[in-house]
Amino acid sequence: MLNKFLCVIMVIAATVNSAKAQWEPVKYDMNIQVDYASAKIYVDCELTVVNASTDSSNNLPLLLYRLLSMSSVTDLQGNALPFEQNVVAPDELPRLQLNSVNIKLPKEVSEGEKFSVNISYDGFIFGYTEVTWGYVREHIEEPFTILRQDTYAYPHPGYPTIESMMNVMRYSYDYNVKISVPEHLVVANGGELISKTTQNGKTSYTYRNIKPAWRMDFAIASYEILEDNGFRLFYFSDLKEEARSLMTVLNNTMELFIQWFGPLQDFQIFSIIQVPEGYGSQADVTSIIQAGEVFSREDLNANLNLYHELSHLWHPMEIDPIPPSRWNEGLATFTEYLTAEKMEERNGLVDSTSGTISKRFIDRCQNMPNCWETPLIDYGKTRMTEYSYSKGMILFHVLYELIGHDEFMNLIKRYYQAYYKTGGSTHDLTTMIKELPHKGLASFVDEWFYGTESNEYLLKGKSVEDIVKIYNE
Ligand SMILES: [Zn+2]
Repeated sequence: MLNKFLCVIMVIAATVNSAKAQWEPVKYDMNIQVDYASAKIYVDCELTVVNASTDSSNNLPLLLYRLLSMSSVTDLQGNALPFEQNVVAPDELPRLQLNSVNIKLPKEVSEGEKFSVNISYDGFIFGYTEVTWGYVREHIEEPFTILRQDTYAYPHPGYPTIESMMNVMRYSYDYNVKISVPEHLVVANGGELISKTTQNGKTSYTYRNIKPAWRMDFAIASYEILEDNGFRLFYFSDLKEEARSLMTVLNNTMELFIQWFGPLQDFQIFSIIQVPEGYGSQADVTSIIQAGEVFSREDLNANLNLYHELSHLWHPMEIDPIPPSRWNEGLATFTEYLTAEKMEERNGLVDSTSGTISKRFIDRCQNMPNCWETPLIDYGKTRMTEYSYSKGMILFHVLYELIGHDEFMNLIKRYYQAYYKTGGSTHDLTTMIKELPHKGLASFVDEWFYGTESNEYLLKGKSVEDIVKIYNE
């Protein structure tokens, strides 16, 4: 799933050419003091970056929230490094003000070389409601606050341009973050809790990432915690019953997915962190930040997001040349509806969803230049990965009907077992599909992954059933 911040940025970025970032974060070591009396955070951050481009450079550009200000920058030996900071905004989004920092490094850093800086910064957070994303509404205040990527609560390498800001999607870094809060509060994060110590009325939580991260979220509230079988729920105390019921759903889903896709190889912890209504839901590699509705056991669709995110645990990293098409979003979307159909006895849900999604795809495609001419394999390159959810869902539904439930699950299981360590490419998956004993699969792969015939079928209003017949002839 993609957060709303990136969706907005991606829509704008559709018109911007893609370029590889010069710098990418490798590791964040942070010590954050949250001071509610002054409504400020005080941060010491050791940031390690790598030069990911072929050009050497001695200038490190960083982006930070508009009301967070750097007070010092040094190298790891404590030598002060000159820096400049200015509040600016990208041309494409003039209301998105950021503190743009340029740090002069003491030497040229060449391709593949790492460099670490120590940064001290502090200041306020007042969300980004003045931009188009109203869900970024956090302040440093009780009863709830959240420190996250969307507010640039921690520095990102990059320039204040949409093109540069888009690069966060490609990040893959480690973090080790200590956050100190008043002792009656809990810091929730999707990583591993390394330590929790209390002194003088303050509790410090230290979290470390479990898998390489592309974002860090730290929610702070009077959370209750429920743990079972590798799942960890951070929930607001008035929802004890709902949290127990949610835990049952998680365990049942896990059991079903193990039956479908085989055992998970590196499962440690998966966290679900409740946030108040209106703060948006997001997914990281080992956690979901979820607004209240998922805890409501009455909404029939409340579990869909859970099924979607849990199914991603079985998806090897897509290692196509950057940027990948992200067909795994189509697989997760198909799995989410199939799971609801099976677990909640919602007959016909997958068929009706494919129908709705086909119609939506046609409507959106009509208004998008080159949409009909673009095959799924190019959705990353053309910044069209939002279509990987819809078109991808129909792709996997067609495949499911074509080869049947058991063969489909067996395929996903074998793909996971073969590639969970190394990551897998579209070619790796389509090779496995074509090896299955069904004569129509070569055409199916050509037309749905690499070709645009599939777009024509949808434009002509063909249902999944009609399309399956084409490959069965
Ligand atoms: Zn997803």
